[in-house]
Amino acid sequence: MLKLYEGKTKVVYLYDDDSLVIKFKDMLSAFNGARRDELHGKGLINARVSARLFEVLHSHGISNHYIRMFDDSSILARRLNVIPLEVVCRNIAAGGLLKRMPLIKHGYRLSKPIVELHLKSDELSDPLVLDDDVVEAGILTLNQLGRIKEVTLNVNDVLSKYLSSCRLVLVDFKLEFGFNGRGEMMVCDELSPDTMRLWDLDTFKPLDKDVYRRGGSLADVYNVYVEAYRRIVGGEPR
Ligand code: 5GP
Repeated sequence: MLKLYEGKTKVVYLYDDDSLVIKFKDMLSAFNGARRDELHGKGLINARVSARLFEVLHSHGISNHYIRMFDDSSILARRLNVIPLEVVCRNIAAGGLLKRMPLIKHGYRLSKPIVELHLKSDELSDPLVLDDDVVEAGILTLNQLGRIKEVTLNVNDVLSKYLSSCRLVLVDFKLEFGFNGRGEMMVCDELSPDTMRLWDLDTFKPLDKDVYRRGGSLADVYNVYVEAYRRIVGGEPR
């Protein structure tokens, strides 16, 4: 298959005119690639966790790019024109929110979810942008932005409930969106412990990439990814 793109944690191949194979690599990356490590088995975990969560979204009528598993660490997905935005949704204060708004304390449950738009740009470290910036730059219309926020809040409701049934708190997450050839908007990219903060429902211990960002050992990181897998997918990752 023709390789279209290789990023820090995924490789994208052309499958046919309308679909792609997305391979999840056994790589961990944080701080915009400043820390990088190989973690055997991580690709399979992120592929299967993403597949399960995209299936949950499908079952609630939320359009997304997932078609089926392709192999142990790859999914078959619809080919989209990806919008160059990262849409972050937060339920509990953590990470980037605390840096820009230090008056809110870590772990504080927000009175309502906050949806943020960030421009996808490694050089600029994905800066926060305003709705009007996005419209002025010609990325989306105001109506399309409204729709993206509505879908993001719907994803938040659906995933928060599902993950709570897995004894996990959905603290925050990042979504990406794209348009298919008919102009229909869909959720794309991945839904995994790399792109979500997931805390244990009882202890509030992180079961996500924060363990790596905070300098945890690769063994500790692997253990929390396996635990997230057990709860979300069920069984052992193999
Ligand atoms: P924060 O802005 O607090 O760093 O991130 C908020 C949420 O979005 C976290 O769950 C984080 O994992 C996810 N997120 C934000 N930007 C990125 C990104 O560039 N890559 C990945 N993998 N996740 C991101």
